[in-house]
Amino acid sequence: MPYSGFSLDGKVALVTGAARGIGAALAAGLAEAGANVAVSDMTTRLELARDTQSRVEAAGVKSATYPLDVLDINSISPVIGRIVDDFGKLDILINNAGIRIRKPALEVTEADWDATLDTNLKGLFFCAQAAARPMIAQGWGRIINIGSQFSAVGSVDRAPYIASKHGVAGLTRALAAEWAQFGVTVNAIGPGPTETPGMLAADDRTPEQVQADLDYRMPLGRRMQPHELTGAALYLASPAANATTGHLLLVDGGWTAL
Ligand code: NDP
Repeated sequence: MPYSGFSLDGKVALVTGAARGIGAALAAGLAEAGANVAVSDMTTRLELARDTQSRVEAAGVKSATYPLDVLDINSISPVIGRIVDDFGKLDILINNAGIRIRKPALEVTEADWDATLDTNLKGLFFCAQAAARPMIAQGWGRIINIGSQFSAVGSVDRAPYIASKHGVAGLTRALAAEWAQFGVTVNAIGPGPTETPGMLAADDRTPEQVQADLDYRMPLGRRMQPHELTGAALYLASPAANATTGHLLLVDGGWTAL
């Protein structure tokens, strides 16, 4: 008999920042494993988010698209309430929405700092809090925060981003400690460099400079593709991971192994 521990049949997932990149790939991956998926992104990205919805529906599960800007803290609970009404429950949150600003620490402005920390850490926390309420009420839930390899190590020219992603690792442990008793696990995935529209737009180096950097820092020797993060998300979302909580699962092509 096939092992059923990885099946997400009948589960309901919400993915933030799912219009493109890693969020879109994870939404499609959850759907292929049987989950119904609520797709969300900022109002300005809804057309693209509906493309993700179409990818999800192509897997034969239910989907819908919701405007959700994680900077708008007061809107988060109402959107999650709508999702619970529309889908009947919420089992899995993929806390994916995030931004990056690359510049030397000496040039970082207060606005850079606030935008990065407010999106990557504050918004992520309030999405987790709002999702945890119905999960705790039903006694089962999976919160998966998208961190980074920079949740574990540092680098140059990314001080607010690295602070936010280290914060994601710490917050993951804190929430895991509080909510395990209610059947809600909280874990993080730490992707390494992954080819997404946002990542490519923030990188103004030549292909030769990029490859030299990857040869030096990343044993895999290439950037990852978003779908290469799907297995990690499916594991953490599945019944197979019942006892895994507070974990940072690095999927970084070996970046942090060096
Ligand atoms: P993309 O920029 O390609 O996609 C992110 C999506 O999130 C976009 O649709 C973006 O909209 C949306 N978003 C941004 N701000 C908000 C907000 N306030 N509320 C809701 N949605 C928002 O990024 P990636 O797919 O590369 O990144 C996804 C996650 O993975 C991020 O948390 C990132 O830090 C993390 N990550 C990515 C890595 C990589 O190499 N790609 C490596 C390590 C971690 P808009 O386009 O309008 O900004």
